[in-house]
Amino acid sequence: MMGELPSSIGILPFRNKVLLPGAIIRIQCTSPTSVKLVEEELWQREEKGLIGILPVRDSTETTVGSTVTQGVDSGDRSSKNQPVLLDYHKTDGKNLNEPNWHTRGVAARALHLSRGVEKPSGRVTYVVVLEGLSRFSVQDLNTKGAYTTARISPIDMTKTEMEQVEQDADYIALSRQFKVTAMELISVLEQKQKTGGRTKILLETVPVHKLADIFVASFEISFEEQLAMLDSVDLKVRLSKATELVERHLQSIRVAEKITQKVEGQLSKSQKEFLLRQQMRAIKEELGDNDDEDDDVAALERKMQDAGMPPNIWKHAQRELRRLKSMQPQQPGYNSSRVYLELLADLPWQTTSEEVELDLKAAKDRLDSDHYGLVKVKQRIIEYLAVRKLKPDARSPVLCFVGPPGVGKTSLASSIASALGRKFIRISLGGVKDEADIRGHRRTYIGSMPGRLIDGLKKVAVCNPVMLLDEIDKTGSDVRGDPASALLEVLDPEQNKSFSDHYLNVPFDLSKVIFVATANRAQPIPPPLLDRMEVIELPGYTSEEKLRIAMRHLIPRVLNQHGLNSDFLQLPEGIVKLVIERYTREAGVRNLERNLAALARAAAVTVAEQEPNLPLNKNMHPISSPLLESRIVNGGTEVEMEVIPMSVNNHEISDVFRIMSPLIVDEEMLEKVLGPPKYDYNEASERVVTPGITVGLVWTAFGGEVQFVEATATAGKGDLHLTGQLGDVIKESAQIALTWVRARATELNLATAQENNLLEGRDVHIHFPAGAVPKDGPSAGVTLVTSLVSLFSRRRVRADTAMTGEMTLRGLVLPVGGIKDKVLAAHRYGLKRVILPERNLKDLAEVPSAVLKSLEILLAKRMEDVLEHAFEGGCPLKHHSKL
Ligand code: ADP
Repeated sequence: MMGELPSSIGILPFRNKVLLPGAIIRIQCTSPTSVKLVEEELWQREEKGLIGILPVRDSTETTVGSTVTQGVDSGDRSSKNQPVLLDYHKTDGKNLNEPNWHTRGVAARALHLSRGVEKPSGRVTYVVVLEGLSRFSVQDLNTKGAYTTARISPIDMTKTEMEQVEQDADYIALSRQFKVTAMELISVLEQKQKTGGRTKILLETVPVHKLADIFVASFEISFEEQLAMLDSVDLKVRLSKATELVERHLQSIRVAEKITQKVEGQLSKSQKEFLLRQQMRAIKEELGDNDDEDDDVAALERKMQDAGMPPNIWKHAQRELRRLKSMQPQQPGYNSSRVYLELLADLPWQTTSEEVELDLKAAKDRLDSDHYGLVKVKQRIIEYLAVRKLKPDARSPVLCFVGPPGVGKTSLASSIASALGRKFIRISLGGVKDEADIRGHRRTYIGSMPGRLIDGLKKVAVCNPVMLLDEIDKTGSDVRGDPASALLEVLDPEQNKSFSDHYLNVPFDLSKVIFVATANRAQPIPPPLLDRMEVIELPGYTSEEKLRIAMRHLIPRVLNQHGLNSDFLQLPEGIVKLVIERYTREAGVRNLERNLAALARAAAVTVAEQEPNLPLNKNMHPISSPLLESRIVNGGTEVEMEVIPMSVNNHEISDVFRIMSPLIVDEEMLEKVLGPPKYDYNEASERVVTPGITVGLVWTAFGGEVQFVEATATAGKGDLHLTGQLGDVIKESAQIALTWVRARATELNLATAQENNLLEGRDVHIHFPAGAVPKDGPSAGVTLVTSLVSLFSRRRVRADTAMTGEMTLRGLVLPVGGIKDKVLAAHRYGLKRVILPERNLKDLAEVPSAVLKSLEILLAKRMEDVLEHAFEGGCPLKHHSKL
């Protein structure tokens, strides 16, 4: 490129402005000299011409060493501070001799050239797009001609010089630093302007020393600095200067940005509000309406004032109220704003129910009178209450009652509430998958609501209730966020002082709430959540316990609820036992209570029919209404309400009935009211009648369950069919069981050594009858094998024996979960023997001793042990020792 420079060049003076190499500039030439220059040097040339751009200093006062003074007519300077010399020669040709020519300039070529003729004067003008190419230094100037020309010599480095410099360590370091800074600037600019990566590509492809010029040329710096840049012939000097300038530019952008943000924020907010309010007022006046609304709003404001909001929230509420006042009721957003304010006004920011002096003795009596058995659980609750009494502010753990449905988890929690004299509220978490259920939706959503917690607090209207987080194990997480993490915040004493509900949008203090949780199983609860809670297990009840609970608690309660008493309805123990055995088969007592209630209702109706004159209808009325509302406020939506009894004063009914002899429920009435028996106590012995049927034990959310397994063989091609509601694991277990049995066919005496293919010409079908509960888990392994062995050996399995256990392919019996619940289930079904994996022995400690006493527990290490116990007369094995 240096070679391209001619020794003489036409000069276009730039006033107070520098064109740097690599920079592109568009100028309009109107003065006679510049027009002449462009015409002769660029327009009329065949080949591409070059012109020299030479900066001219405007003022004589600032003399810089490197300016040449041509000293002609310095008095007449057109000192308009114009950056580009467009009209330099405007006045007349005399001004050509500007005093302060810079000694260095840049040769430029025209990228684009266009010529125009002004009408009507006929004056010619040019618009030129110039690109700076390389630096030169001026040897001497000739200002005599139609335009200035100069003798010049190149000053940019030669190629070889350049290559040398590029090896220089300092140069390398400098160029790296420059690139980093330049990159930063590009990123900032791109963020601001959202431009693509064009500039970045430049960074990769253009040599650094050129980049330095290009970058500096692209932002506004002083003339002095531009000159300095032009004079930086030394590449290192140029790079460090450029880095400094880019850095400074970066800073100024950042500062400017900050300032704009601030200013914009302040201005727009207050101005906008003001303007809107003005408009609103004008509209209101125009319409001349709104009186009713005003009254309502005034009432709302009063309510808000009485709500006892903390100062910062009060401020927030007032802001919202102002917004509401400025709106038309028809306006979108008015209603939502109003509903929101109602919530703020309704929330119990400070309202508490007064904590009564805790009487531990009374609390214990209360727990005892409400709940039968559960000695350990009640003891733990008393301890919990005692700690609270001694140190009310202490961070007590969150109690979590874990057990099957209907074992008294909810009613224990409500007993805690009444012992503390606090209100009780149940928040149902079953099936909550969306974090918004707990934390609410932001108000920007249409139909947004607060989460269940805030909603519940609004309903109880005190900020210190006992809050039951029901079925905390049933929360799941999916794309809509993780409710468990929200619950973590709720249960964390550090964080729940300022619980944030998205809808509420201001923090609410949950620290006064006493949380109690329930779960059917502890295992699905996320570990961090479980970590915050103290698990108290409530096993299911035995039939004897259920009978006691029914006689002592459920029946009096049910009668009372129905306005009856033992004077006119009696449920003998024998009948209750039948209800337990034939109509319920649950771990808890919920269905039992329902059945008893059904009997009580029927009895009441029967009596009423006998005596049609009784004013029963009127008095019966309150019976069916939910008696619960005053005590339990249901935080959930679709949750069925459990009836927790209260004393109902229905003496009148009782008095009327007293004249008659009591109605005693008998078996006949039982069947009439409850229908034919649903369950049979002797079910097992009746069902296990043919070979292939085995009694297994499974574990479900409802506690332990008995699960029959039926295997049968049909003509076929050796396939295995499975039916019943099954998970994948059980299908695999079945496959393993079949493989094991086939491998042992000869030893088990199921086939002769010659034809030991058990499946020759037949399919095996295994069915898991009854129960809508999907069955999964490997604990059916031993049951499946036993069924198959029974099927192939045509020997019946003992009907009084239930079993559970996982089996390996080699016949080892592995321990399984839920032993306690399973043993209880076996007991409930009236089974006498239970086969368990040997390694589950330790789990038996949890089983109530009364239950253990009534059962024979058989431990198995290998599959053969199971078979030994399962068949009358032992395992159908030919040679034990062989295995
Ligand atoms: P859960 O919350 O465990 O599903 P609930 O607390 O709703 O069960 O109990 C169901 C019903 O059974 C309630 O009426 C409760 O009072 C009663 N109940 C449960 N266990 C006992 C018990 N040990 N003594 C007296 N009543 C009980």
